[in-house]
Amino acid sequence: MASAPPEVSSQYKGTGSIFNQQTPANSASSSKPTGDDDPKAAPLPKGVVLDKDGKPCRTCTSVASWRALTKQAELKNANSNATSSPNSNTGKMTTSTPALAAAATPSPSETPSDCPPDVEELGRSTWTLLHSMAATYPEKADTEHQANMGGFLKFFSKLYPCWVCADDFQRWMAHPSGRNQPRLESRKEFGWWMCEAHNEVNRKLGKKEFDCRLWEERWRTGWKDGRCN
Ligand SMILES: Cc1cc2nc3c(=O)[nH]c(=O)nc-3n(C[C@H](O)[C@H](O)[C@H](O)COP(=O)(O)OP(=O)(O)OC[C@H]3O[C@@H](n4cnc5c(N)ncnc54)[C@H](O)[C@@H]3O)c2cc1C
Repeated sequence: MASAPPEVSSQYKGTGSIFNQQTPANSASSSKPTGDDDPKAAPLPKGVVLDKDGKPCRTCTSVASWRALTKQAELKNANSNATSSPNSNTGKMTTSTPALAAAATPSPSETPSDCPPDVEELGRSTWTLLHSMAATYPEKADTEHQANMGGFLKFFSKLYPCWVCADDFQRWMAHPSGRNQPRLESRKEFGWWMCEAHNEVNRKLGKKEFDCRLWEERWRTGWKDGRCN
C-alpha cells in the first residue's frame, strides 16, 4: 500500500495569509509569524516562498534561503525540546526570536549536485531547454509545428514548478496588447521572442539584460571566437 507523503513541520502550517506576498523576485520574507498560535515564532528567512498550500516551495526558493529555513526549523525543534524537558523550570524560550532569525540568515555555499533544484538551478536548466528548442526550431515553421510549440508554451507556463514564476510568465505572455504572444513563424522570430521573455525575467530580478542580437551565438552556433568549437 502506498504511504502518504510526510508532512512539513507544523511551524509552516496555517501560513496561507502570507504566501501571496512571497515572490522570488522581491525576496521578501514574511514579517508575520509563521505559526498563528505562537507569537514568538520567528519570521520566515528572507527569500523563502510558500506554495499555494502554505508550505515552503523549494523550487520557488534559492538554496541559501532554503538552508536558512531548515536551520531555523532545527533550532526551533531543539528549543521546544529544551523548554519541554523536566529540567526546564523557567518556561522561557532558550533561543530568542532574534537569535532564530539571525541563525536563519542565508549563507551562500555550495550544494551537492544531486539535491533537488532550487529556483535558480531549475531556472538555468529550463532556459537551456527553452533556448535550445528555439535553436532547433525550423527556419520556417509550418502550421502544425507552430501549433505544437504554441501548445507547449501554453502548458509550460501553467505547469512550471515555481508557481510564482509561472504566474508572472503567463501574465507577461497574455499582455492585453498582444505584444508578448509567442512569435512562431520562424526560428529567428521565435529565438528573439524567447530572448525577450528571458530578459523580462532578468529585469524583474534586477539582472543585466542580454543582447538579443547574440542569442544564436549563445544557443545555436557557438561564439564567433571559436571557443565553443
Ligand atoms: C519561465 C521562467 C520564469 C522564471 N521566473 C523567475 C522568478 O520569477 N523569480 C526567480 O527568482 N527566478 C525565476 N526564474 C529563474 C531565473 O530566470 C534564472 O534562471 C535564475 O535566477 C538563475 O539565473 P542565472 O543568472 O544563473 O542565469 P539564467 O537567467 O538562468 O540564464 C542562463 C544563461 O542564459 C543566457 N541568457 C541570459 N539572458 C538571456 C536572454 N535574455 N536570452 C538568451 N540567453 C540569455 C546567459 O548566458 C545565462 O548564463 C525563472 C525561470 C524561467 C525559465
